[in-house]
Amino acid sequence: MTYDLHCHSHCSDGRLSPREVVLRARDAGVSCLALTDHDSVAGINEAQIAAGDELQLIPGVEISCLWGGKEIHVIGLQLRHDDENLLAALAGQAQRRWDRAVAISQKLEKDSVSGMLDEIRERFPDAVPGRGHFAALLVARGKVRDYQRAFARYLGRKGSAYVAAQWPAMPEAVAWIRASGGLPIVAHPGRYELSGNKLLELLSVFKEAGGLGLELAYPQLFPKEAQRMAQLARKLGLMASQGSDFHSPEQRWTGLGRMPPLPAEVTPIWHSEYWC
Ligand code: AMP
Ligand code: MN
Ligand code: MN
Ligand code: MN
Repeated sequence: MTYDLHCHSHCSDGRLSPREVVLRARDAGVSCLALTDHDSVAGINEAQIAAGDELQLIPGVEISCLWGGKEIHVIGLQLRHDDENLLAALAGQAQRRWDRAVAISQKLEKDSVSGMLDEIRERFPDAVPGRGHFAALLVARGKVRDYQRAFARYLGRKGSAYVAAQWPAMPEAVAWIRASGGLPIVAHPGRYELSGNKLLELLSVFKEAGGLGLELAYPQLFPKEAQRMAQLARKLGLMASQGSDFHSPEQRWTGLGRMPPLPAEVTPIWHSEYWC
C-alpha cells in the first residue's frame, strides 16, 4: 500500500475538486488516500464516490486550533464525517473563518485592495474561506508576484492584513475528532517553530487530550528533524502518519503520494489497532 494521509481539495484551499484529487492520487500510485481539507468534510462524499474500488479513501479533516499562542493543525483520520456534533463544530470553524475573512478584507480595503470578499464568494463557491483564497486573488490582480509574497506582504503574521482567527484550544479539537470516531494526528510538527522542550510539552498535552499520532514524513521535513521527532513519538507512545499536504499541481515541492520515508522504529498509524 502507498499511503498519503494529508491533502486538500477546493472544499478548502486546494485547487482541484475532490474527484480530481482522487483520480490524480490514483494515477500517482497512491492506494490509500485521506482527504483532509481545512475545517471541512464537505468533499468526502464526492471523493468516496470517485475512489470506488480503485483506492481506499479515508475520511479526514485538518482542524486549526491554538496551543501556547501558536496556531496548530490537528488532522483527524477515519472519522464519521456525517457525525452531527462534528458537523456542528466544523460549522463553528467556518463561522470563525468567515469572521476572519471579513476582517482581512477590511484591512485590505485600507491598503487599497477592494472587493475581495465578494470575489472569493464568486470564485470559490465550494470553499470555506482561507488565507490561500486571498493569496490567489492578490496574485491574480497583480498585487504580488506569487503566493509566498502574498503571505509575506499581506496575509502572514507580519503582513499588513494579518488577522488572528479565534481558533479553539487544541484539546478541544482533539476531543471533536475522538468523539466522531477519528484518530487525531499533529500535522507538520516542524512548522510551529517550537523548541524541543516546547514540542514535548505540546505533544504531552495532545496525548493527554486523546491524541494518537504525529506526521513524521512530509515534504520539506529533513531526516535529522524527523529523527528527533520520532524520538519524542516513541517516548510518548504516539504513532506516525505521513502525507504530501498537496494543494495544487503548481506546487513544485510536493505532489500526491510524494514524501520522504518514515523514520525507523516508529509505528505507522495504519499498523495500529485503531486502523480500519
Ligand atoms: P488558513 O488556514 O486560512 O489560515 O491558511 C493557512 C494555509 O495557507 C496553509 O494551510 C497553507 O496552505 C497556506 N500558507 C500559510 N502560510 C503560507 C506561506 N507563507 N506561503 C504560502 N502559503 C502559506
Ligand atoms: Mn492550506
Ligand atoms: Mn496545515
Ligand atoms: Mn494541510
